[in-house]
Amino acid sequence: MRNRKIIPPVLILIAAAVIVLIFAHFSPENSGLILSIFITTLIVLSLSVIVYFGVIKSDDTIPEMTSIAHVTEHLDTEVILWVDDCSVIHFNKKLRKMIGWNDNEKATKEMMLSILGVENMSSAIIERLIAAKSNDVLFTREDGKVFTISWNTSLFRKTRRHRIFLSAGFDITHIKKMQRTLADTNESFTLSMELSEIGIIMSYDMKKFYASAETVRMLGLKSNSISLNAFRSLIHPNDRVQYDSWLKAFETDKDAFNTMKSIEIRIKSARGVYRWYSYRFKAIRSATDNTLITGGALLDITKEREKDILIERLAYIDEVTEIPNRNKLMEIGPETYEYCRHLNYSYWVIVLDIDRFHIVNDTCGYDKGNELLRNFAHILYKFIGNGGLVARLGGDNFAIVMRDYGDDELPVRTAMTIQEEMNKLAVNEFSSLNLTCSAGYSHMPDDGNSFLDVLEHAEFALKTGSGSQGSISCYEPSMHDSIIGTTEMEKALSDAIDNNELQLYYQPKIDLKTGKIMGVEALIRWIKPDGTIIHPDSFIPVAESSHLVGRISEFVLNEACRQNVLWQKMGYKSIVMSINFASSDFYQKDLKEKVTDALIKSSLEAKWLEVELTETLAMRDINFAVSQMTSLRNLGVQLAMDDFGTGYSSLSYLKILPITLLKLDRSFITNIENDTIAHEIVSSVIRIAKSKGIKTIAEGIENQQQADILCDAGCDYAQGFLYGRPVPPEKIIKFLEMQR
Ligand code: C2E
Ligand code: MG
Ligand code: MG
Repeated sequence: MRNRKIIPPVLILIAAAVIVLIFAHFSPENSGLILSIFITTLIVLSLSVIVYFGVIKSDDTIPEMTSIAHVTEHLDTEVILWVDDCSVIHFNKKLRKMIGWNDNEKATKEMMLSILGVENMSSAIIERLIAAKSNDVLFTREDGKVFTISWNTSLFRKTRRHRIFLSAGFDITHIKKMQRTLADTNESFTLSMELSEIGIIMSYDMKKFYASAETVRMLGLKSNSISLNAFRSLIHPNDRVQYDSWLKAFETDKDAFNTMKSIEIRIKSARGVYRWYSYRFKAIRSATDNTLITGGALLDITKEREKDILIERLAYIDEVTEIPNRNKLMEIGPETYEYCRHLNYSYWVIVLDIDRFHIVNDTCGYDKGNELLRNFAHILYKFIGNGGLVARLGGDNFAIVMRDYGDDELPVRTAMTIQEEMNKLAVNEFSSLNLTCSAGYSHMPDDGNSFLDVLEHAEFALKTGSGSQGSISCYEPSMHDSIIGTTEMEKALSDAIDNNELQLYYQPKIDLKTGKIMGVEALIRWIKPDGTIIHPDSFIPVAESSHLVGRISEFVLNEACRQNVLWQKMGYKSIVMSINFASSDFYQKDLKEKVTDALIKSSLEAKWLEVELTETLAMRDINFAVSQMTSLRNLGVQLAMDDFGTGYSSLSYLKILPITLLKLDRSFITNIENDTIAHEIVSSVIRIAKSKGIKTIAEGIENQQQADILCDAGCDYAQGFLYGRPVPPEKIIKFLEMQR
C-alpha cells in the first residue's frame, strides 16, 4: 500500500525531467535557464515528496478506518467505528439496517451519540464507555420500533493523530422483552398468591421452613425462614397430633410420599388468635441426596368453618329452645343404639308432650308459648347425666335419652319430677295455668330393632296414655292392638296418596246478582278403588296429626291451579279457584314459595287463585298469620275467611287480616229463613264487611228462600247444594257453559 502512494510523485518527477530535457534539446541557448528551473522544480518536488510522505506517515487514520470498516461490514453484529474526535465514523451494514438507513447514507456524529446513548464524546465519556463492560442503550427508530443494544466499546488502534474505537453492539431487545415478561409473570404470581390468599411453605430438610410473603403475612412471622419447631408451636395443641402423625408417616411410610395430603388445623395467626387453615402438602425425596423435601399451601378457612358451625347449628339445634332437634337425635340415637348392642349398655327413651299446649298458645299468645317451650327444655336438661341427650322432636314433643343403670323406676320418677317442676313454672310464670305434661317411655335396645323403632314405641306409649293429662306410660307390645285404627288409617292414607286415590271435586260459587258461576271451591275426596268416596272430615284430621297433610296440600294446590288453567284453555271465562289450607300448611315458612311455584308451573294468574283460611287458624299466631297473609296478597292471591262465625267471630279482626272475601258459615244459613237473630247477624256482618271493601259469600245455601234473603241483605256470592254439590271437574263444565 505504501508503494502505491509513492508512485504519483515519482511519475510527476520523471515527467518533469522528460519535459526539461525536451526543452533543453530544442532550445540549447536557454538550456542553462531550463536546467536551473528543472533543478529548482526538482528541489520543490523533492520537498513535496518529503512533505507528502511526512503527511501520510503522520495521518494514517483514514486508510486504517477504511480497511477496518470493510472488515466490519459483513459482521453479524452492530458495529460503529469511530475516531476520538468523531471526524470519521462508520456504521456497519447491520447497524444501518437496524436504524433504517440505506447504504448510501453517511454516519453522523449525532446519530452515533444517540445510538451510544451519550450526549457528547469527551474523553471522560470515552473512558466510561470503555470501562463499562456492556452499556445497554435503548434506541427508538424513526418508525417507532424500540431496540435495546448492549454496547461494548474498545480502543481498536492508535494512529499518529487519533485513536480509533470500535463499539460492537449486541441486540438484546428480545432478551429484555423476555425479562420483562418474566418479571411480570413473577409479579403476577406473587399477586395471585396474595389475591388467592394462599401461603406457601417449603422445606428442604425439615429443619428450616421457607415461608412465602403471604405466609409471613398470615402468621405474622418475623422472617421468611422458620424452624420446624417454631412452626409446630404455632399449631393449636389439639391439632398438633394430626400434624405430627403426618410427619411421622413421612419417616416411616414410603407410600406417604408423592401424594398430596390435606389437613385442617388451627394455627396461631398474625393477630395472635387461632384461625382454621387448610394445609395441603406433599413430600418427596430428593433424587440426588435423598433429602426430604416438603411443600405445602396454607389457606385460611376460618370463615368456611364458621359457616359450617352455623349450618350445623341450623340443622341440629332447635331455633326456639336452642336444644338439639330431631335431626340431632336421629344422628346420635342410632350410634347409642349400637353401643347398647355391642357394649351391653341400656338406655331409657322418654318422650314427653306438654298437655293442652295449644291453650297456652291460644290464650297467652305465641311468644308465651315459645317461652313455655324454652322453660320446659331447661327443666329437661337437668335430667341428662353422662351420655344422655335431650331433644325437641317438634311442636310440644320432647325426648330424653338417659342411661339405665338398673333402676326400673327411673323413667317414671324422672317424668314425675318434670311434672312437679312444670307445676312450679305454672305458678311463677304462667298465671296458674294448669300446666302438666304426659310421658311415654321405652327401653333401648330391647324395645325395638333400631333406635327409630324404640323412639316410635315411646311415642306410641305416649299416645296411648294421653287420654288423661299427666299420664306416664311404659311401652308394651300389646298397646298396638288398641290404637291400630289410627295407624291403619295413616298407612292407608299414605298408600292412597301414592296410588293417586285422592281427587279434587269442585263446588260452584255463584254471583247472586247474575246467577252465574264466578268461582269454584276445590274440595278433596278420597276415592277408594271400590268406588267408596271418603269425605275430608274423616281423613284430614288424621292427615293433620301426621306428616301426610303436607303431601295432600301440595297435591291440592298444584292440581287446582292446573285444572283452572285447563278450563281457561278450553275457552271458558276465567273463574276463581278456592283451596283450603290446613293449619300446618298455612304456618309453613316457605308457603309463599310453594304457592309461587304452583302458579308458575301451571301458568295461572295469581288473581284466579283464592286461599280459604279459618278464623281459628289465623288466631293461632295472629302476627305471623298477618304477615303470611300479606305475603300471599302481595303475590296477587285472594284470601277468604272460611267458616266465619264459628270461631272467635270478632269483627275487629277484619281490620287487621288482609282478606278479600268473608265466608259466612253454614250454621248461620241453615235456618236463616226462620231464625231472626241469625238473619240479623248475617245482615250486620255483610254490611260491616262491605264498609271495609270485603266481599261476602254465604255457604250452605240449600233453598231459594235462603238465597233471596242473602241477596236482599247484600251478600255478593253464594255456595250450596241449591246451586250444585261438589262434583268432579267434568261436571263443572255445564256451569261454565252457562257463563258463556
Ligand atoms: P269447608 O271448606 O267449609 O267446605 C265446605 C263444606 O261444606 C264441604 O264439605 C261442602 O261439601 C259442604 N257443603 C257445601 N255446600 C253445602 C250445603 O249446601 N249443605 C251442606 N250440608 N253442606 C255443604 P266437605 O267437602 O266435606 O269438606 C269439609 C271440610 O273439609 C271443608 O270445609 C274443609 O274445611 C275441609 N277440606 C275440604 N277439602 C280440603 C282440602 O283440600 N284441604 C284441607 N286442608 N281441608 C279440606
Ligand atoms: Mg272452605
Ligand atoms: Mg266452610
